[in-house]
Formats: sequence, C-alpha cells, structure tokens
Amino acid sequence: MNDACAGGSRRKPELLAPGGSYEKCRIAFLYGADAVYAAGRDYSLRGYAKNLDLEEIAAAATLARSLGRKFYAAVNAFALETDLAGLPPYLRYLQDIRVDGLIVSDPGVILLARRWAPDIPVHLSTQANTMNSLSVRFWQEQGVSRVNLAREIHFEDLADIRRNTSAELEVFVHGAMCMSYSGRCLLSAFLNHRSANRGLCSQPCRWSYRLVEEKRPGRYFPIHEDARGTYIFNSKDLCLLEDVGKLAALGVDSLKIEGRMKGALYLAATVRSYRHAIDRWHASPEGYRVESGWREDLDRMSHRPYTKGLLFPDEEVDGETVDAATPYLQTHTLAALVRPSTEELLGGENRNGTPWNPAAGDLPKPPDGHPEATTEHWTTLEVRHRLSTGTALDFLNPDGSTSRHVLDAFEDLRGNPMTVAHPNSWVRLRLPFPTVPLQVVRMCS
Ligand code: SF4
Repeated sequence: MNDACAGGSRRKPELLAPGGSYEKCRIAFLYGADAVYAAGRDYSLRGYAKNLDLEEIAAAATLARSLGRKFYAAVNAFALETDLAGLPPYLRYLQDIRVDGLIVSDPGVILLARRWAPDIPVHLSTQANTMNSLSVRFWQEQGVSRVNLAREIHFEDLADIRRNTSAELEVFVHGAMCMSYSGRCLLSAFLNHRSANRGLCSQPCRWSYRLVEEKRPGRYFPIHEDARGTYIFNSKDLCLLEDVGKLAALGVDSLKIEGRMKGALYLAATVRSYRHAIDRWHASPEGYRVESGWREDLDRMSHRPYTKGLLFPDEEVDGETVDAATPYLQTHTLAALVRPSTEELLGGENRNGTPWNPAAGDLPKPPDGHPEATTEHWTTLEVRHRLSTGTALDFLNPDGSTSRHVLDAFEDLRGNPMTVAHPNSWVRLRLPFPTVPLQVVRMCS
C-alpha cells in the first residue's frame, strides 16, 4: 500500500529510465536511475531499439541487484496468435533470472505471465490506457501490481486515482509523446508497414506534410499553423521537471523517462536532471525549484520544444502541445563515451580497495606507476563526433556537475599524437579531473 496520505507523501518516487541496450542500462544506473526498463529482442514495443539478448537481460538484472536497483523487462507488445507459443519459455526465463517486474500491455500476456512467471510483479504498460481508479482495481484483480497511467489524464484525475487505489502508480515525466490515443495508431503501419503496436513505429506523425490538389500533381502546398492550431500530428516532447515535487507529494510511485531508442547523451542528461530533482525535492519539499543546470542539460540534447502534455494542460506556456513548424532542436551532440583504460581493465580495484564497480560511479584506483599519481588523469575516449585540437568538451559527471575541457593534446592508443579524431576511433588524453567509464561527453556547441 502506498504511504501517500491526504497531507501528501514524503517518500521518494522511483526514477525509472529506459535501457535500449545493455550499455544504456549501465549508463542509466551510472547517472542515478533507481530502475531501468528494457526488452529482449522479441515481444516488446520498441522493435527498432537494439534491445538485449537473453544473456544481456540476465546481466542487466544481476547488475541491478548488485547495485540495489531494479530491472524491469518489457514484454509489452500486443501479441499475435503466433506469438503465444514462444511466450511461456521466455516468461519462465525472466522469472529464473529474477527480473524485478514484467511490463505488459496485452491481457493474454498477463494471463501467461501469471502462469509462467508467478513470482514476478506485473506492471501494466501505458498502452493499456488506464484512466480511472476502477480500471486500476480491475487490473489489480488480474494480478497487476503497478499501473503506468494513460498520458491522457489530468493532474486532478491522477490525484483522485491515487486517493482511491492501493496499486503502485507510475507516470511518464519526460520524452517523446505519441499523438494518438495511448499509442494506438495505424499511421506507421499504413504508410510503411511498420506497426506501432508491434514496436516498429517510424514516427510518420513527425514527417513534414504538404497538401496536393488532385489535378495539380507535383504542386505541394505547405500547411501552416494558424491561431487555432491546425497541426494535428506534431507533438512536442513531454517535460515535467518543474512538477516532480507535485507528483512526488501526491504519492506517485515511479517517474518514468521515455526513450529506449534515444542515445547516450539523452539518457545521461535526463537521468541526472531528474535524479537531482527528486533528491532535491526529498531533501526540502517546500523549497523545491528547478535549477538552471538541470534544465540546461535537457535543452542541450536533441529534443522537440517541451510541453507539460495533458497532465497540466492549463500550464502550457503557449497553450499548445503540438508544434507544426519546429524541427528537433539540437544545439549539442554526443562527442564521446569514456572507456576503461587498459590499466583500469586490468586493475579492478576502487580507490578504497573495495571491488571497483563502474556502474555505481566508482572511481578506479590507479595502478602503481599510473600517471594519475600526478594531478593529471589519463582518459580513454570512444569518439562519436569528429574531434580536433581546440574542441571544447563537457564531461557530464554522475554527481550532476559538468567538467569542461578544451582539447589540446591527444593520442591514439599506441601513443601517436593526433590533431583530429573521427567517429568510432579511440583516443587517449590527459585531463585535470578524473572520469569514469561510460561517462558521457558532450560537444560544447
Ligand atoms: S506515428 Fe506518431 S502518433 Fe502514430 S504511433 Fe507513431 S509516434 Fe504515435
């Protein structure tokens, strides 16, 4: 039973982050996610995310346990008749490796989950479109312990649902929004045979449309937004950073970030922003306010203009949750990922002598004779964007701070000096601050 009360809750909500690959699961934990959701290669709603193979799912569940965090497996595709035979062994496997929850949409899959993975809590996907407390109760009677509520509800509805149910409640706080009702849409399936309900949406709602008159082929008339807002497809991105305190005080159990198909920069920036927001609220609910740095992180990654969606429709700055004219905003891109150095791969000890756990943000102990004995730190980078001397880089630290460094000297892994590095190469450089493997590095501009 949730410990929310009429006067509000002081319990920290869980921060739930997407893990589109095993590496992204590790990045999410590094930047402070309490739990990560990811899927296997089948039966999930993100068919074009890399997703995890069976061994990676087991590794992610084990990693989560070792860190005291949680790992939820998404099995949220609407199953076809032909899917049913393969689900029991898969669900049994998920139980055997002890994932912490199964995210499910399809009632048939819930039946199978209760039978083949009875010890694993079932979480209902937003896809099930749950909008009231009676529906929550219905799903509880089917064995569901947590419900991700539909994005169509208002905050007042959420408060009522919280008051009237004991189930765990989860809401999306950040990420892309689907324009159709809880993601039930055939646009992608009709336009290029990729069904959104099979996790294959190609997001044609974001494409640029023109009007063509039948007798004038080749003449494309642009569709402009007018004062009433005619652009039906083009949703902004959800951002409820300001409202973390309201949701937490209400007793929402889990705040979920969308984006299993998004990149490492998105993941690091969103997780650390919301991590600090939740922690700050918990330390001082009355004084909660968004810090400029948290918001800057969210602005310095690829995103559409932000909206509060339908949860707080009256608080929209410009009154619209659609934006016809604005493409993705991308002022900053991923520059590199920090990789373990050879010394670190061979070393494996923390500075305090305990086993080194990079996913927990541990700083490795430099082996004897390692250059870190000086004030400089050797760092290995996997380059993701062309780098050259003079490039300014921001290292996003898991503690929320950012360390800036302007590239002067760097070298390849054989020690040959370089002036330019191309994507997918690895380089080494000295930094005046320590880094941790999988730390995300952003181009300054
Ligand atoms: S095409 Fe757009 S509206 Fe339709 S499912 Fe995909 S994201 Fe949602």
